[in-house]
Amino acid sequence: MHESETSKDWKWQIANRISTREELEGYIELTADERAAFNGSIPLSFAVTPHYANLLKHAALRRTVIPTGHENALGTGELADPLGEEDHRATPHLIHTYPDKVLFIATTFCSTYCRYCTRSRLVGKPAASTFEQSFQYIEEHTEIRDVLISGGDPLTMADPVLDELLSRLREIPHIRTIRIGSKVPAVLPMRITGDLCSILRKHRVWLSLHFIHSAELSPETQAACRKLSDHGIGMVSQTVLLKGINDDTQTLIDLFYGLLEINVKPYYLLQCDPVRGSAHFRTSVEKGIKLIRSLHGRISGLAVPQYVIDAPGGGGKVPLIGKEQIHREGDDILFLNHQGNEYRYPDPMDYPI
Ligand code: SF4
Repeated sequence: MHESETSKDWKWQIANRISTREELEGYIELTADERAAFNGSIPLSFAVTPHYANLLKHAALRRTVIPTGHENALGTGELADPLGEEDHRATPHLIHTYPDKVLFIATTFCSTYCRYCTRSRLVGKPAASTFEQSFQYIEEHTEIRDVLISGGDPLTMADPVLDELLSRLREIPHIRTIRIGSKVPAVLPMRITGDLCSILRKHRVWLSLHFIHSAELSPETQAACRKLSDHGIGMVSQTVLLKGINDDTQTLIDLFYGLLEINVKPYYLLQCDPVRGSAHFRTSVEKGIKLIRSLHGRISGLAVPQYVIDAPGGGGKVPLIGKEQIHREGDDILFLNHQGNEYRYPDPMDYPI
């Protein structure tokens, strides 16, 4: 039954998303903790595509999308908006943190919701509908050259809407680079149709794809990425470092080599942001540095991403390669960003689990 479901088109996958405990139990037997989480109030949006639900027999993947009681706990230093994006909100759809780059939150919808999402304050919630004010803002700010369209997941938008959004941005002469952040190839690979590829190609879009484990590289996902590559779409990956899910050398090697084979360049290995309810997902920064060093010199340089920590509060991404870049003060890790400003990341020595 599940085999044939995954062969249906992407709109069927979205229309048949699993969004209740009862529906999920048609795919997988839940633990007592998972059942209890559904019976209580779930603070983060929950939904999984049938395609991804069929991969949840893999223990690493199930932890990333099925609610547990841990997400109700507010850990030390955790925030609803850990990167301070709301402080830089320029319009209902734009976050303008760096002079030459703007984040365009085009949708708050995702086909599948990750339990560690940095934007869990927004995803799955209602959003403003018209983009016009945002286009005007970008037109007026000629210092902006780079637009990152994110969300939510922009590739869940219908072809005409996406085409219109990209066309409008391409009409603005100072916009040189357009990127889209998406997890669609992993969770909804049937969305990667020939028509979508043509739209992305026409507007010369780079894709920044979210993958966390090689178990996500299903035959359908591999075919989707190869199709994008055949259409000349540049692809890089972003992987969130997650405790007990991908925080060991071999798991990362399998993922990064697997991505290279489908023409996705491993780009960022991200320290998990201290979003509320994420303590059980976060690996220590010391371990992150140890892991990235274990990859250097061991696998092809092309397969090694940058390990980065997003400075809480909006200090930008800081690449970490050595312990000399950080120092510990109690339960915090302190480090400098590219401007030499000091930032603090909550990294308790004694995690709750
Ligand atoms: S796909 Fe991205 S935006 Fe959507 S829930 Fe996952 S991390 Fe958040």
